[in-house]
Amino acid sequence: MDRDRFEKSALIVGGGAAGMLAALTLARRGASVTVLERNDRAGRKLSATGNGQGNITNRDMGAHRYFASEPKKVEAVLSAFGKEELCRLLTSLGGYFTEDEEGRVYPASRQASSVTDLLRFALAKEGVRVHTGEYVRAAQKEGDGFRVITEKGEYFSRFLLIAAGGMASPHFGSDGNGYALARAFGHSVTPLSPALVQLKTDRGGVRGLKGVRIDCGVRLERGGAEVFACRGDVIFTDYGVSGNAVFKTSSYAKAGDTLVIDLLPCCEEETLFRLLLQKTAAYPALPAEDLLRCIVNSAAAKCVLRSLSVAAAQPCKELGGRCRAIAHKVKNYPLRIEGNMGFANAQVTKGGVPLFEVDGHMMSKKVHGLFFAGEILDVDGECGGYNLQWAFSSGVCAAERMAELIDEDR
Ligand SMILES: Cc1cc2nc3c(=O)[nH]c(=O)nc-3n(C[C@H](O)[C@H](O)[C@H](O)COP(=O)(O)OP(=O)(O)OC[C@H]3O[C@@H](n4cnc5c(N)ncnc54)[C@H](O)[C@@H]3O)c2cc1C
Repeated sequence: MDRDRFEKSALIVGGGAAGMLAALTLARRGASVTVLERNDRAGRKLSATGNGQGNITNRDMGAHRYFASEPKKVEAVLSAFGKEELCRLLTSLGGYFTEDEEGRVYPASRQASSVTDLLRFALAKEGVRVHTGEYVRAAQKEGDGFRVITEKGEYFSRFLLIAAGGMASPHFGSDGNGYALARAFGHSVTPLSPALVQLKTDRGGVRGLKGVRIDCGVRLERGGAEVFACRGDVIFTDYGVSGNAVFKTSSYAKAGDTLVIDLLPCCEEETLFRLLLQKTAAYPALPAEDLLRCIVNSAAAKCVLRSLSVAAAQPCKELGGRCRAIAHKVKNYPLRIEGNMGFANAQVTKGGVPLFEVDGHMMSKKVHGLFFAGEILDVDGECGGYNLQWAFSSGVCAAERMAELIDEDR
C-alpha cells in the first residue's frame, strides 16, 4: 500500500461480522481501511447464521448471556454499542428488523445473506477496500505500524485489527489460524472447545427417533445435581440430539453428564399419571404402544416403553401400577452424554485470546496499535443472537478507539 497513507491506515484481518462492522466504523471516521479476507467474499459465516435467517441480536442483551473471563468488560462493550445501536445502524443502512416472541431479532427478509449485503453495499459506498482471496499468513510489528504478509504479497498499516474468528464451522473460513497470529504477538490463548453444538448421547436411548423434533424441557444433571435447564426444540438424530434447547445446554455439558428430557413440558406429571390411569380403565384391551397416543410423539412413546421394558403389545389392563413409572419417564427421559459433534459442527468457540490481555477498547496490552474483535476473543454467548452481537459490538469498540488514535496521529 502507499507508504504516504500509512499514518492513517488500518488493516483488518477477516471480513466477518466483526471485521466488516469495524471497517465501516473506521471508514466513516475518515480512516483508510483495507480488509483482508481469505474467502472469495466477505461475510460467508454471517450469511449462514440462524439457519440462514440471521438472528443478529436479542432483546435481552447483557453480559449475563455470555461466558467470558471478564464480564465487566463485556458489559462495557455492549453498553457502548448494544442491540439498539446495532438495529439503528443496520436500519439506517436500509434494512428492516423484527423481533420474535423470544426476543430474537432477525431481518424482516429472514435472510441472513441480506444483512451481509447491507454491510457489503455500505463498505463499498464508504470506500473500504475489501481484498478477497487474501490469506494472511503472518503479521508483525514494523516501526510504528504493522507488516502483514499474505499468500500474494504484503501490506503495511499504522493499526491492525485481528478479527479472524474462532475455529467453529471452519468451512466458513475461520479455522483457528487467527490464534497463531495472536500468539506471534506474544498473546496467549485459553483452552478452546466447541460450543452451541449437537450432543452425542447413548445410541440406545435415541434408537428409532432420528428426525423427530419435539418441544421439550431439558435439564442437565451432573452427579444428580441440576447444572442447567431450559425449554425448546430437541431434534433427535442417529448420534444423539440437536436443536435449540440442546445448543443452549451444550455450553454447560460434559461427557458423563445426563440430559433429562421432559417430553411433555405442557403437562404436570400428576396430571399425566391420572390421564393414563383413566385411559387404561376405559380401554383395558388397548395395547401399551397406544397408551401414549395423541399425548407424546409415537416414536418417543415407543422409546419410553422400551426403556421400562414394557412390551408394545401388552394390554393396558396388565400394566398394573406401571402408569406412574410411564408418566415419570415421559417427564424425565434420561440420555447419557458421550460428547459433542466437535468444531466441525459447532456454531461458536469457547475460549480464545483472554480479555485480560486487551484493554477496554480491545487493544492489546502487549502491542500498541494491535486490536482484536469477535470470536477470536475468549467470549462466547448463548444461543439467540448473542454471538453476532458480540462480534458487531467488539468490532465497533475496537474501531472507535483505532479512529481516535488515527486522529491523534494527524
Ligand atoms: C451455522 C452457524 C450459525 C450461526 N448462527 C448464529 C446466529 O443465528 N446468531 C448469532 O448470534 N450467532 C450465530 N453464529 C455464530 C456467529 O456466526 C459467529 O460467532 C460470528 O460470525 C463471529 O464473527 P467474527 O467476525 O468474529 O468471525 P467470522 O464470522 O468467523 O469471520 C472471520 C473471518 O475471518 C476470515 N479469516 C480467518 N482467517 C483468516 C486469515 N488468516 N486471512 C484472511 N482472512 C481470514 C474468515 O474467512 C472469516 O470470514 C452461528 C455460527 C454458525 C457456524
